[in-house]
Amino acid sequence: MNIPRLIDNYGREHHYLRISVTDRCNLRCVYCMPEEGMEFEPAEKILTFKEITEVVRVVAGMGIRKIRLTGGEPLVRKNLEQLVAMIAQIPEIEDISLTTNGMFLAAKASALKEAGLTRVNISMDSLQPDRFKLITRGGDVRKVLDSIDACVEAGLRPIKLNVVLMRGLNDDEIAEFIRLTRDRDIHIRFIEYMPIGHSDATWKNLYLPLSRVREVCAEQRWDYGPVATVQGNGPSENYRLDGALGSFGLIHPVSEHFCQSCNRLRLTADGYIKPCLAWTEQFHVRRVIGDDKAIRQMFLDALGTKPENHEMSHFLNDDLAITHTPTARRMSQIGG
Ligand code: SAM
Ligand code: SF4
Repeated sequence: MNIPRLIDNYGREHHYLRISVTDRCNLRCVYCMPEEGMEFEPAEKILTFKEITEVVRVVAGMGIRKIRLTGGEPLVRKNLEQLVAMIAQIPEIEDISLTTNGMFLAAKASALKEAGLTRVNISMDSLQPDRFKLITRGGDVRKVLDSIDACVEAGLRPIKLNVVLMRGLNDDEIAEFIRLTRDRDIHIRFIEYMPIGHSDATWKNLYLPLSRVREVCAEQRWDYGPVATVQGNGPSENYRLDGALGSFGLIHPVSEHFCQSCNRLRLTADGYIKPCLAWTEQFHVRRVIGDDKAIRQMFLDALGTKPENHEMSHFLNDDLAITHTPTARRMSQIGG
């Protein structure tokens, strides 16, 4: 049988599926969820581990090689290592990674590694305990630091730290984050704050283009240069301070999009395929689980609607019209 590949109308071939395993979270980061009033899907609407594995098995046959588990907070889902082990059984899958806020990771790192997890990205938007608590609305930065140690111990490498930069909130810590890479083999990923599910004045005020990171490096008179590859890094532009063990990267979807090389699809916790993070299109694949042909067709239909560009930069400029309808989902309801 001739199984189709996941190629969209712009010739982009898709190898990467990001799977949200829950829309729930133990934190409420300011850029991701409102403090109150989030409504969560009831348990029966959330894909089971078996259903997720079925979808992965089918799309692995269409060329998916990399899986990332995310959320919401993926580690609020009980026994996540079971899902990792189930996906790891699928022969075509070469890489299974996890994005987590790190609050529950220290206790789970070795079980996840044993189950087949390759590596982790941990979100850490401040090194200062009080500020970290403020940004995450309740998180404990010491738990993130313990998680990093547990991941080193478990052999989950490379360790990447995701830092969403926000004007006036944590942009004074750029140099401090980069200094961390001098003595530790970690990769800091600075990420631009994206207008997902909200493109209001708060977003505009906090948004900071990542050209600021290069300015800080110049102010510090640091010598640094490009790094060819950091495993699994996708759209990140990567650098290393001369002589440093670790590295840092810039992910700038708003100021300079990288849609031309997008190779990712998303599966939401409530069972929808999302071809583009920014736009509203979604396809309820849960309805057809059990029918491989129908799953394949739905992925192809989803790809058929994938736009050339997410147009996030247009939200900064009222004169630029957008050509699609923005998603109403927040990041936690998609899987960032
Ligand atoms: N709870 C996990 C965590 O925080 O790492 C996984 C889910 S979270 C939605 C995934 C990533 O999306 C995190 O690194 C988070 O910082 C990032 N994120 C959430 N909202 C964002 C936004 N509006 N713009 C940019 N990144 C965002
Ligand atoms: Fe939760 Fe992650 Fe969103 Fe923060 S970024 S609220 S930890 S899902």
